[in-house]
Amino acid sequence: MNNPIKKVVVLGGGTSGWISAALLKKILGSSIQLELVESDDIGTIGVGEATIPPIRHLNNVLGINEAEFLRETKATIKLGINFEDWKNRGHSYLHSFGAAGKSLAFCHFHHLLKRANQLEDGSHLWQYDLNYLCAKAGKFAQIKSKDPIIELPYAYHFDAGLYAKYLRKFSEKLGVIRTEGLVEHVEQCPTSGHITSLKLKNGQTVNGDLFIDCSGFRGLLIQEKLRTGYEDWSHLLQCDRAIAVPSERLDKTLPYTRSIAHSAGWQWRIPLQHRNGNGLVYSSSHCSDQQAMDTLMGNLDSKAIADPKVIRFQTGRRYQQWNKNVIAIGLSSGFLEPLESTSIHLVQSAVVRLVHLFPHLGINSSLVDEFNKQSATEFEQIRDFLVLHYHATERTDSDFWQDMCQMKIPDSLAHKIEIFKQSGRLFREQNDLFTDSSWLQVMLGQGIIPQDYHPIADTMSDEKLTEMLRKVKEIKQAPIDKLPSHDEFLTMYCRQ
Ligand code: FAD
Repeated sequence: MNNPIKKVVVLGGGTSGWISAALLKKILGSSIQLELVESDDIGTIGVGEATIPPIRHLNNVLGINEAEFLRETKATIKLGINFEDWKNRGHSYLHSFGAAGKSLAFCHFHHLLKRANQLEDGSHLWQYDLNYLCAKAGKFAQIKSKDPIIELPYAYHFDAGLYAKYLRKFSEKLGVIRTEGLVEHVEQCPTSGHITSLKLKNGQTVNGDLFIDCSGFRGLLIQEKLRTGYEDWSHLLQCDRAIAVPSERLDKTLPYTRSIAHSAGWQWRIPLQHRNGNGLVYSSSHCSDQQAMDTLMGNLDSKAIADPKVIRFQTGRRYQQWNKNVIAIGLSSGFLEPLESTSIHLVQSAVVRLVHLFPHLGINSSLVDEFNKQSATEFEQIRDFLVLHYHATERTDSDFWQDMCQMKIPDSLAHKIEIFKQSGRLFREQNDLFTDSSWLQVMLGQGIIPQDYHPIADTMSDEKLTEMLRKVKEIKQAPIDKLPSHDEFLTMYCRQ
């Protein structure tokens, strides 16, 4: 079967369904017809509140007004994630979206700092990071500067359900057709095995040339129909359950996510404008559901405003994210736990990849293979980054943490850790979502200290180095006093 692709059907109206529909229709315009099918009876997963900076590119491409978006989705600003009790109890560090210091050719700033530390300079990396300084001061405003040294990259915390609703309105204006109904049967071409139509409970038939499976964990098309199979990574990321519960908003809204390690997993605290999102991610082999529930409910810092919801998951990815004429996007494509808030981003990048490789003349195996190769690499890189948080820890106070330290990690990650430990060097591979700055912060934050620094750091005299660090610190500190608090910013900006 090699028919031109004229009609795209998105199955599912969760965050991934509506992001897919909005972005595909916005970019491909009248070259495709787009219909989205969703079932009110089934509903959406209803969690997922924290994002990473590329979400702003998505909103920009869609032409979304930021102030309106913040109002409609009850969003707050996110400058990074504060990891508490991860390296050991009582210790914390921020994985900020910024980069410390200033960029230098061939030599990262942290090499200079390491050398300075040997000259009795006791400062730490984060004192040179504007995101960290703003996060800790609870301040924010968009900083417009041509000088990259004072960039303040940010993302959002938002209500993903409200975001999906917002994108629905947006998509329908672009011409996306929404069909409400429960898919009961899926028709396939007897020769190619390609999906030809969805049969709904109300008797309606939805035909299509290309199907985007956004049906959630079950993967109605990619798995239940096409039996694509799943690569299980639960030996690497052993948490397999989460309990989520919203609580009342706090007086002061932090501009960062909090991730607090517990004895068999970790807890998130995400501030929104109207409430706090809370959840505990845990390993059911190390902790009972009741223990997890008690830990979460005993650690809320405001009153719960709904019943807690238990979610089971299996970490891993589909062997093929694109199989025949079905492309799995969102939870149907695989799952990496929300430690670094990457799921919504994976939706965005899968849609962008599909746009680049869009098979308008018909499905061809080289496009499919390329899509699957890039998707696999992206999932693996994020997996490694998540494993780093668990594995590089000094915690041994529970069976869970002892298992994490002893776990056999992927060779790709072991290599990265080893090279950093020995020499402080970091390399960004094949469009890795996480920059050197991210790897650096998490490696240092989790207690991996390089034994050496780059010899370029020795080419500066002691005085020059000390003066340079003093100046960078001063430049990074300078904007803080002038910025409004995060809450003042939200109030002023959302009024626009
Ligand atoms: P769903 O929301 O499950 O939507 C599935 C859709 O398919 C629904 O519309 C449903 O009606 C439809 N459907 C299913 N079957 C049928 C049928 N037979 N007929 C018709 N329609 C059907 N991501 C982040 O980026 N940041 C986070 O902080 C974050 N936190 C998370 C925390 C947890 C505990 C979990 C589990 C996930 C988290 N995620 C997070 C991931 C995020 O929730 C999902 O990526 C996102 O919500 C996308 O879900 P989805 O649209 O793929 O699936």
